Amino acid sequence: MYRSKKLLSLAQFAPCMHCGIEDGTIVAAHSNQLRDGKGRGLKAHDYRIAFLCGKDHAELDQGYAMTRFERVQMWEDAHRKTVGWLFENNHIEVRWR
Ligand SMILES: [Zn+2]
Repeated sequence: MYRSKKLLSLAQFAPCMHCGIEDGTIVAAHSNQLRDGKGRGLKAHDYRIAFLCGKDHAELDQGYAMTRFERVQMWEDAHRKTVGWLFENNHIEVRWR
């Protein structure tokens, strides 16, 4: 299982990848999908994350307004943007070895 506290804590410097807000509540929201390494009492890989604000993170995990399918779509879209943001802001280094 891939773990990186540094990667997770980069969320504090990013906008919400769903609504774009920068309100100091942005955290790395792990995937809730089994295919991303999520299991009983186990979080998904730390690279299967989406940077989301507190409000969107709560919606993702609780589903107050959105269906399960809509929440998966929301997370997938925000995850793609998060990966792009990490590369475009030079937080990810590629090593040749
Ligand atoms: Zn948001």
